[in-house]
Amino acid sequence: MPRKTTRSVQIGSVTIGGAAPIVVQSMTNTDTEDAIRTAAQVADLARAGSELVRITVNTEAAANAVPEIRDRLLSMGVDVPLVGDFHFNGHKLLAAVPDCATALAKYRINPGNVGRGAKRDEQFAQMIEIAAKNDKPVRIGANWGSLDQELLAKLLDDNAALANPKPLEQINREAVIKSALDSAERAVELGLPRDKIILSCKMSRVQDLIDVYQTLASRTDFALHLGLTEAGMGSKGIVASTAALSVLMQQGIGDTIRISLTPEPGGDRTNEVVVAQEILQTMGLRSFTPMVTACPGCGRTSSTYFQELASRIQTYLRDSMPAWKDKHPGVEDMSVAVMGCVVNGPGESKHANIGISLPGTGERPIAPVYIDGEKAMTLKGDHIAEEFQSIVHQYVESHYSA
Ligand code: SF4
Repeated sequence: MPRKTTRSVQIGSVTIGGAAPIVVQSMTNTDTEDAIRTAAQVADLARAGSELVRITVNTEAAANAVPEIRDRLLSMGVDVPLVGDFHFNGHKLLAAVPDCATALAKYRINPGNVGRGAKRDEQFAQMIEIAAKNDKPVRIGANWGSLDQELLAKLLDDNAALANPKPLEQINREAVIKSALDSAERAVELGLPRDKIILSCKMSRVQDLIDVYQTLASRTDFALHLGLTEAGMGSKGIVASTAALSVLMQQGIGDTIRISLTPEPGGDRTNEVVVAQEILQTMGLRSFTPMVTACPGCGRTSSTYFQELASRIQTYLRDSMPAWKDKHPGVEDMSVAVMGCVVNGPGESKHANIGISLPGTGERPIAPVYIDGEKAMTLKGDHIAEEFQSIVHQYVESHYSA
C-alpha cells in the first residue's frame, strides 16, 4: 500500500510524516494539575508503547504542573514528548506560563475553540507566535464536535444561495476540512514553518471520517493525525476505530494515530495504545510485539485449555517485550500459533515460527510442536503450557540476538 507523501514534522526524537513509520500516540485522563498521577499515567502509556502522549492544559495550575510532569518523567527515565491540548484559554496559558510552553514538545490547537469574533484571529495568532518563538510544532486539530460556528454559518449561507444546495452533512464535512486548512495557512502566514504543522479533522462516524480524510489528503501535503473521535467503549470503540483507520491507512493516508477509547470505569488507559499497535501490526504496517494466532475453538475442543495457553503465551510475549526490545531485535516479527485441534492445528502451526496443536476432543492427548514449519517435538502430560513457553523462550534466545 503506497503511503501518500506528506511533509515530515520532528517532535523531539519522533518523526511524523514523510517516510517515517506511522506513530502511535495517546492521551491521559488524569487531572493535569495532579503532576504525580499525570506523570505516572504518561509513564504507563509510554511504557506500553505510546510514542507521544497528550495531556490537557486547561488551567493555570495545570500549565504550571507541566514542567514538573516533564521533570518527573525524566527522573523515571521516560523522555516521551508531551503534547499540550489547549482549548479556549491556550493563548493566555502559554503566555502566562513560559515554562509550560518550553516543556511541551508540541501544542494542539482546536481552531473551533480558540475564541469568538475578532478575538479568534488575535488569540490564534498569539498561540502560533509562541509556538514559532519556541520552535514547537503544532497540531491544528479541527473536531466535528467543536466546529468553528462562524465558518459553518458562512458555508451554510453560501450553500443556501445555490440553485441546488448540497446536503447539510456535506457542508459540515467541508467546514471541518476548511477550518483545518485555513487555520494552517494562517499559521504559515504568521511565521510557523510548514514542517511544524500537523492537521487533523476528527469525526465520530466512520464514513464521515473516511470521506473527510480522503478529501483532506487530496488537498494538502501537511502530515495527518488520524483518529475517530469519541469512538466509544469496549468492542464498539475498537471496531469503529479499526474500520475507519484501516480504510484510510490502506490508501496511504495518515502519519500518526490515536485510538479514542472510553475506558471501563477503573479500566486500564494503556488499552488504547495496545489497540493502536495491534491495528498497525495486523495490517502489516509496523511490528511491536510477537503476535499469537489462535483458533476460535469449537465443538472439537471441550476444554478451555487452549484458550488459557493462547492467553498465557500472548501475555508472556507482551510482558517480555520491554526486556527483549534491545536484547532481541526483530523478535517483534515472530509469530506463534496456538491451535485447538488437529483440523487446522498442524497447518496453521507450520505457517508460524512456532506453533502448537493441542489435542481436541477424542484425539490422543499429545501436542505436536512445529518450529519453522517442521514438526520438532511432541508434548504431553500436565506441563504442556510451561514446556511450550520454555520452547518459545529458547527460540527467541537462539534466533534473535543483538
Ligand atoms: S482448529 Fe479445531 S478446535 Fe480450532 S476452530 Fe478449528 S476445528 Fe475447532
